[in-house]
Amino acid sequence: MSTSVGELVDLCRASGLRRTKALEVLLGTLLQADRPMTLAKLEKSRRLASQCDKATIYRLLHRLTDAGIVRRLGLHERAAYFALVLPDQHRDYLICTGCGSIAPVDAPCPVHDLEEEIRTKTGFQNLYHELEFFGTCPKCT
Ligand SMILES: [Zn+2]
Ligand SMILES: [Zn+2]
Repeated sequence: MSTSVGELVDLCRASGLRRTKALEVLLGTLLQADRPMTLAKLEKSRRLASQCDKATIYRLLHRLTDAGIVRRLGLHERAAYFALVLPDQHRDYLICTGCGSIAPVDAPCPVHDLEEEIRTKTGFQNLYHELEFFGTCPKCT
C-alpha cells in the first residue's frame, strides 16, 4: 500500500532525473521523515551528508519539485519545507506566518465529502487535495 523508494525512483526516471545514490538517499530520507522537512534539516541528515553537499540537495529538491514528486510548502525561501507528494497519503497543513513553522493538521479532513461529490460529478479519478491553513502559532503570539 505505502510507496517505496524504488517506486519513487521510477517516477523520477520517468521525469528525466538520473538515478544517483544521492537521489535515492534524499527520497528515502523524506519518505522516512513522513513530514515536511526544511533544507537545513535535510543537510543535517548524516546519511545524506555522506552522499552529497548542500548545493546538490538543493538542486535535487528543485528538480523533484519541478517534476511534481516533491511539493514545496511554506511562506518564504528561508523557511521552505519540502514534502513528498504521495498518492496514498493525504495531508492538510497548518503554517505560521510569523516563524514559518509547519505541521500537519491533526483533525479529520473537512473536504472528503466534497472530494467524493466532485468525483461523482466530473468523473475525475485519483482526486486529491492539500489544504494550507495560515495563522500565528502560540510561540509567535
Ligand atoms: Zn510561529
Ligand atoms: Zn484534507
